[in-house]
Amino acid sequence: MGLDDFTLISATDPSGLPTGPFVGRHLIDGVWCDSADGATFERHSPAHGTPVTRAARGGGLEVDAAIAAARRAFDAGGWRYMGGRERAALLLRVADLIDRDRARIARIETLESGKPISQALAEIEGAADLWRYAAALARTQHGDSHNSLGADMLGLVLKEPVGVAAIITPWNFPFLIVSQKLPFALAAGCTAVVKPSELTPSTTVILGELLMEAGLPAGVVNIVLGYGQPVGAAMSTDPRVDMVTFTGSTGVGKAIVAAAAPTLKKVSLELGGKNPQVLFPDADLDSATDAVVFGIYFNAGECCNSGSRIIVHEDIAEEVTERVVALSRRVAFGDPLDPATKVGAVVSGEHQAKIDQYVRDAVEAGASVRLGGAPLEVPGLAGQFYAPTVISGVTGDMAIAREEVFGPVLSVLTFRSFEEAVALANDAAYGLSAGVWSESVHTCLAFSRAVQAGTVWTNTWMDGFAELPFGGVKESGQGRELGRYGLEEFLEVKTVQMRIGRTRSPWITAD
Ligand code: NAD
Repeated sequence: MGLDDFTLISATDPSGLPTGPFVGRHLIDGVWCDSADGATFERHSPAHGTPVTRAARGGGLEVDAAIAAARRAFDAGGWRYMGGRERAALLLRVADLIDRDRARIARIETLESGKPISQALAEIEGAADLWRYAAALARTQHGDSHNSLGADMLGLVLKEPVGVAAIITPWNFPFLIVSQKLPFALAAGCTAVVKPSELTPSTTVILGELLMEAGLPAGVVNIVLGYGQPVGAAMSTDPRVDMVTFTGSTGVGKAIVAAAAPTLKKVSLELGGKNPQVLFPDADLDSATDAVVFGIYFNAGECCNSGSRIIVHEDIAEEVTERVVALSRRVAFGDPLDPATKVGAVVSGEHQAKIDQYVRDAVEAGASVRLGGAPLEVPGLAGQFYAPTVISGVTGDMAIAREEVFGPVLSVLTFRSFEEAVALANDAAYGLSAGVWSESVHTCLAFSRAVQAGTVWTNTWMDGFAELPFGGVKESGQGRELGRYGLEEFLEVKTVQMRIGRTRSPWITAD
């Protein structure tokens, strides 16, 4: 494998790199602060190797203060009882401020995560749209009334905010994912404590700045920077927190469920995936192979929705594999600050080693590397990059077919019958998303019904809309984000039964 086999984007002008690190502080009760013990942590750009962020490292004192502030702000009632119109106006102001600052937000997102700048920019714009959508929900949400319970009875179903929401987010889509949760929580009337990943804290800090600029009352949103231990763990156990909404790995998701159990908090989880795309012989192979390449290399494969395994009918398997290999060579990867780059750096050296181990184990188990299969150096860049990789001859029992590799590594499996395709697709602990490629609407519908997944794409991959709910089944999570359902997650139902007049028959009758 030589560099000539790929489309490499080498280092751009180094003057594009920051002269000093972004400095991140906690936001607690409307005040920006360092940690009481002065602790900090640093983040280096995974593509360039240079330090880009220095952030306050939260401990018990900071989480305690942030939760106390969110609790006070909720219990005081100013936010939860504010009219939907006012709440919506605030969310719309935030959306406008995100638009105004999108270039600044995208740049630090790229520097911390390694993702291409053009993609980061699109994500920030998508996030602004989520704030606008949540604003619409804030104005239109309502409960139910029942007037068919009899002449003397009226029933009301109120939708009330759950309370204090703990929001814990991962590093792969930091700004987008906090925007899949926070505006919906705020639209519902909740207050929040937010903890971004320790690898990508800065864009959440910028969001906090924009919330303050938009006029959000102090204490309604608090941000604590730092690690899962102790910050995330304390947010999951504290009795003053009413719900935890978490996006991240399935392992940590299970730990959060256990931590939240003693106080029976509501827990919403968006976890990992091992998402199959199934290609039938009548598929439009131009569209399908392009979507396969997009599905596996988008965000360097570090994506819960990564289409990390394709299940291809035997009759077309070799043609599909060859086409995918040819397209993979044309994927521009390298310096994420270059607008031409489509695939950037892998998030850390440790993670890169994990990806590489999956490939080695697959080869050991009998699979064949058709392209890539190793780290690659990009000229002029000190960070870590993994070559676009295609592995064929993968069988359902191999770790690479079942576990989330979270890298630019595609596994190719084959099938003979519809039933076998469905069985292979469902043969994973995960159930986040799935895709089917066929010109027959009957095949697409039958597959959509049979596959165990929260989202099914037919003849497309990874489209997304604020209006459509997103989430997983099995070990991919519980609850839904986006759409009306995304708001419902932050609402509790209260039933009010009202008698009209003195018509209630006495329980104890007169003698
Ligand atoms: P991670 O689970 O390591 O960390 C996620 C967050 O949890 C971070 O903020 C981390 O500090 C915090 N955390 C760690 N330990 C904790 C603990 N014990 N208690 C509370 N919080 C703790 O995940 P990651 O590596 O940042 O992200 C990658 C994972 O996220 C992948 O598995 C991916 O599939 C998943 N993901 C899922 C979705 C989805 O919508 N389903 C979206 C993006 C990412």
